[in-house]
Amino acid sequence: MNSETVNAVMQAGVVGAGGAGFPTHVKISAEVDIVIVNGAECEPLLRVDQQLMVTEAERVIQGLEAVMEATGAVTGIIALKSKYMEACDTLEQLTKGKPVRLFRLEDFFPAGDEQVMVYEVAGRVVPEGGLPLMAGCVVTNVETMLNVANALAGIPVTDTYVTITGEVKNPVTVKLPLGTPVIEALALAGVTKTGAVRVIDGGPMMGQVLKDLTVPVTKVTKGLIVLPEEHHLVQNKTLTMEYIIRRSKSTCIQCRMCSDMCPRNLLGHRISPHLIMRGLNHMTGDSDIMKTALLCCECGVCELYACPMLLSPKQVNSEIKKELTKNGIKFSSRDQQQPAAAEREYRKIPSKRLIARLGLTRYDVPAGISEEAYCPDRVYIPLRQHIGAPAVPTVKEGQQVEKGDLIAAIPKNALGANLHASVKGTVKKIGQFIEIAAEGERGGQY
Ligand code: SF4
Ligand code: SF4
Repeated sequence: MNSETVNAVMQAGVVGAGGAGFPTHVKISAEVDIVIVNGAECEPLLRVDQQLMVTEAERVIQGLEAVMEATGAVTGIIALKSKYMEACDTLEQLTKGKPVRLFRLEDFFPAGDEQVMVYEVAGRVVPEGGLPLMAGCVVTNVETMLNVANALAGIPVTDTYVTITGEVKNPVTVKLPLGTPVIEALALAGVTKTGAVRVIDGGPMMGQVLKDLTVPVTKVTKGLIVLPEEHHLVQNKTLTMEYIIRRSKSTCIQCRMCSDMCPRNLLGHRISPHLIMRGLNHMTGDSDIMKTALLCCECGVCELYACPMLLSPKQVNSEIKKELTKNGIKFSSRDQQQPAAAEREYRKIPSKRLIARLGLTRYDVPAGISEEAYCPDRVYIPLRQHIGAPAVPTVKEGQQVEKGDLIAAIPKNALGANLHASVKGTVKKIGQFIEIAAEGERGGQY
């Protein structure tokens, strides 16, 4: 393990930029033989990673090489869809003579699920309930690799790239200071009226509808998808759990399409969402079956693609997972892992068909990276935007900060991530967020 790299990454506050925000310094402290950069970007409409692999290709490769050194990996793989032709060409040129190769993925969903990716790229099945590490792999996001390269140059994480698209005038991908209010970010894509639209934070499959547009962008914000209020995705994602469960009990026809299409089931894992849906109808349910909800990656295939009755196994699983986790119940894995299903190859969901099924074809357009730097008047930086404990403020109200200054640190002996000022200015308030009023040039022309 290269402790210098791990330390630099920890100091810079790098977390997984494409998921739940797992602290990267912990992830790269492991020993593995393969490091995979996840460049699939399989969520429809998102356009961050495929562009960073062109505009920031050198630094993404630098980040990958540093992580390979830190983990002792002998192989580095950048896995991206072959349809990202410019990125493929650029990376192909820049990786010549390096222990890094490209893996060209087909255009299917969910190619970017990390366990699907490990199987596609390395032919290894991650044990159910386990991590890629258990299959000798570390899987990292493209922007995370860029942030690792920056960390080695002493530059902390202060910004994030976000695609703003959907029902907007100018679909765009922008680099935003952490803590920028979503409502301001939307204006950069030409959204000035938000009365009749709703915004999904993340991709259409896994993202959530925001209840409040004043919330800030964080280290894990990758997409803001604006949709008309009546769009069926919005309707689906805003159902109450009570309604979801009542509807599941009364209309699930046990066709098992959800299980047949489930990418984790197809990897040989024991999750069968139709059995969980069946369990809802029995007061006790089979607790072993209900526990398999913990194996769900919440990809959304079952509810947004597979189910002919428009039911929501994913949201049911999510609710069960919350309950089980609250009660400290874990999934105990079997000793012998099943192999991936032979029919898996034929059940990959073509992206174009998924986009059509989601009713998003008219929004499937480019969202080019803007060169313009944007600086809001104020930023609201949440103390918790990663997995682990909230960061502990290291600044006081009224204090002047420069962009990149440490403003909150990992609590002692805890899992967490440092936070840095995303703008130059004055700390106005400290609560669950650190509010900073920006000084100097603000705004940006879009
Ligand atoms: S696909 Fe829908 S109807 Fe069929 S078993 Fe699953 S939840 Fe029930
Ligand atoms: S969301 Fe549905 S399809 Fe995806 S892993 Fe969970 S159960 Fe399987």
